[in-house]
Amino acid sequence: MSLSFEALGLSEALVRAVTELGYTTPTAIQQQAIPAVLSGGDLLAGAQTGTGKTAGFVLPILQRLAMQPAPSGKSRKPVRVLILTPTRELAAQVGESVREYGKHSKASAAIIYGGVSINPQITALRRGVDIVVATPGRLLDHVGQRTVDLSQVEVLVLDEADRMLDMGFLPDMKRVFALLPRARQTLLFSATFSEEIRTLANSLLKNPAMVQVAARNSTVEGVTQRVVLVDRGRKSELLAHMITTNNWFQLLVFTRTKHGANRLAEFLNKHGVTALAIHGNKSQGARTRALSEFKSGTLQTLVATDIAARGLDIELLPHVINFDLPHVPEDYVHRIGRTARAGATGEAISLVCADDKSLLLDIERLIRRQMPREIVAGFEPNPHERAEPIVRQRGSAKPERGQRERQQRAAPRRDTQHRSEQQPQKNHGQPARAQPATKSHAAPTRSAESHAKPQHSKPSSQPRRGNDNSMTVRTNIPGLQQPSHRRGR
Ligand code: AMP
Repeated sequence: MSLSFEALGLSEALVRAVTELGYTTPTAIQQQAIPAVLSGGDLLAGAQTGTGKTAGFVLPILQRLAMQPAPSGKSRKPVRVLILTPTRELAAQVGESVREYGKHSKASAAIIYGGVSINPQITALRRGVDIVVATPGRLLDHVGQRTVDLSQVEVLVLDEADRMLDMGFLPDMKRVFALLPRARQTLLFSATFSEEIRTLANSLLKNPAMVQVAARNSTVEGVTQRVVLVDRGRKSELLAHMITTNNWFQLLVFTRTKHGANRLAEFLNKHGVTALAIHGNKSQGARTRALSEFKSGTLQTLVATDIAARGLDIELLPHVINFDLPHVPEDYVHRIGRTARAGATGEAISLVCADDKSLLLDIERLIRRQMPREIVAGFEPNPHERAEPIVRQRGSAKPERGQRERQQRAAPRRDTQHRSEQQPQKNHGQPARAQPATKSHAAPTRSAESHAKPQHSKPSSQPRRGNDNSMTVRTNIPGLQQPSHRRGR
């Protein structure tokens, strides 16, 4: 039975804020996480963007801040909550949620990420804030400049912890943990539970409550998924044709590479479809502008790589197009999670040529269903087209620009440590390498891992299928032990 926000123990100010946003019922993750966080204990939560996880931690944190005012007498308000996110977009989005959910509360927040001027962030921190939402790299820049003091942090949240590890942030994260008080509440949110996440959870969390919700849309409720077969060289033309003939608006299109995203956006613009590319090589200003134009409806198509799209929250996005299929099958689930939010329906279409077929089979194995194949008149694929190796360019989990610079600046001693800590994704960022499309399971990094130990396809760890509110409360996440020692606490 679902409890209301009031029944979960939230204050009138918070309930009013979410009611004004149109939320009527807490989502599955909120039902479980809110009481757990209010109780003051640690939490390990398996949930990804789209499940309502942000409110799952922001609401109870705001409530705790309101109920236990900061010790008085300090000249500047101490930072009491630190929320770490892997990407700038997610930091901005979580910061926005803090603002919205806290609009009738007194807590103040600063959003700290790279790619933009540091000065306004310094000004905000100087004024004193209760909550800092940050990407690890820029946060450490502030630490280096002594513009942030983390010694009073009461609650640490790691949002999308798996992606932070994928992006090579572990060394930076450890440096941040070392600056925090040992006695604190720690909340770890992750979409997947790799060995590295378990190790991190074991080292950071003390007797955590554990909750997991079905990856949104891994149940594929509400999302119509189909495959359109097409020749390799005609994908752009077919996409422009589908957009114009169907009169589609607000499309998110995924490409595998940044270069591919640029090329496709250029092609679409030439063919009467307004499009912008969003990826890690774009300046933060360009990324923010593209996203706001897309959200406001003035931009028809956003072409994105997986990392850039991670954490984007665009409500009621009707169409997601996989122009290229991802190398990592789990990324397919993340991608289609951009559509059919909040019970709406949406459509995910994959354009598949001969090269993509083995990736398609990997995805269908993961989601445990076969998608219908279609052919668009005038774009019939040549049945004799041979699969060509897919050039795997830089890893999709390549660090953001600012982080790369910091890693280059890092001392040699730390470099050695980075390498050993980043072993599972040592191929990320390597020069382009050709992967035979027929052997995608031989691809390095997470795709290889996911075949070796398929976290999503094991019946024991598979979230229960059902509607979006389906939830499995987990007390036995494999490999998670209660820590006998707690490094970094
Ligand atoms: P998140 O997973 O936190 O990124 O949230 C995904 C989307 O769900 C956001 O657009 C939220 O505004 C929305 N959302 C969060 N909680 C609820 C709720 N209880 N009811 C309806 N929408 C919600």
